[in-house]
Amino acid sequence: MSDKIERIKTLIIGSGPAGYTAAIYASRADLKPVMYTGMEPGGQLTTTTEVDNFPGYPEGIDGPTMMMQLQQQAERFGTEVRIGMITAVNLSKEVGGIHKVTVDDSVEIEAETVIVSTGASAKYLGIPSEQKLRGGGVSACAVCDGFFYKGQDVAIVGAGDTATEEASYLANICNKVTMLVRKGEMRASKAMQHRVNSIKNIEIKYNTEVDEVLGDQVVEGLRMVNNQTGEKEDIAITGLFIAIGHKPNTDIFKGQLDMDETGYLITKGKSTKTNLPGVFACGDSQDKEYRQAVTAAGTGCMAALDAERYLAEIETPEEVA
Ligand SMILES: Cc1cc2nc3c(=O)[nH]c(=O)nc-3n(C[C@H](O)[C@H](O)[C@H](O)COP(=O)(O)OP(=O)(O)OC[C@H]3O[C@@H](n4cnc5c(N)ncnc54)[C@H](O)[C@@H]3O)c2cc1C
Repeated sequence: MSDKIERIKTLIIGSGPAGYTAAIYASRADLKPVMYTGMEPGGQLTTTTEVDNFPGYPEGIDGPTMMMQLQQQAERFGTEVRIGMITAVNLSKEVGGIHKVTVDDSVEIEAETVIVSTGASAKYLGIPSEQKLRGGGVSACAVCDGFFYKGQDVAIVGAGDTATEEASYLANICNKVTMLVRKGEMRASKAMQHRVNSIKNIEIKYNTEVDEVLGDQVVEGLRMVNNQTGEKEDIAITGLFIAIGHKPNTDIFKGQLDMDETGYLITKGKSTKTNLPGVFACGDSQDKEYRQAVTAAGTGCMAALDAERYLAEIETPEEVA
């Protein structure tokens, strides 16, 4: 066995729609990408049954199948997909520098360019009945799944700007939206609070938490509890949306890549360039605004093109203005 450290031209960290789209473009550009899938091969979409809004699937498609097809498409052009976590990074600050990463706390590899597509994880309440019914009426994405509850009664948990935006989005589609706010007031901006307060089919319940999600295979109702009085109340709903935030999977880049206070990576202007040369970020890891498969895929494409241009520039520096 050789002790020589493997050198990769383009390393892709993460296997969601952003990572696979980057892989398709990078492999077709002959960047010989190697992808590490991380703990959730296929990314967030593998946790959902129905994707209805990704262009090109007129009948919709289930998330795991869509991600398998993206993998096959990337592999068709030569992407090497490996199961493994990147557990540490030592990124170069120099143009043309080599980035060092550690896989599964054991193997060190080197990369000329790194595409970060590590996504984000939706936060859930963590109670057993909620976990049991994830995909059976419990969702962390109103824009993705709201349509399936057209004309029905749903509830949403959360008190920030995202929760208020999602509540008003749902109110357009659903019959009634019950909004559970844990405290006596919301965290959302005054403007957003005003918006949800003025929508007739949104009922806001303050000091209220989920006690239990009711239903066996699918959501049939919600048992709410008032955290001041202990009083419980059951309502009939078919969908429960959890909007208590997301956590970008960017901890390993702390101190090296610029990120905002919540951990979303910061990219330059309209590009996917990070603060370090040769390191590009795409998908939900750098997008707290849209968080959709198609936008993740779009920025994945951009990251591969940015990586290709970066490599071309350092290989032919005289052409750089
Ligand atoms: C329940 C649900 C339903 C949804 N439905 C829809 C929908 O219908 N339509 C839609 O457009 N969007 C939907 N979304 C949103 C969509 O899934 C995301 O916007 C999209 O998956 C983001 O893609 P991504 O590639 O940025 O990251 P992700 O899909 O989050 O993938 C991140 C990848 O990075 C990997 N990773 C993380 N850390 C490491 C590491 N250290 N080393 C290696 N790999 C790592 C993970 O294993 C994973 O493979 C839904 C989301 C959820 C939660």
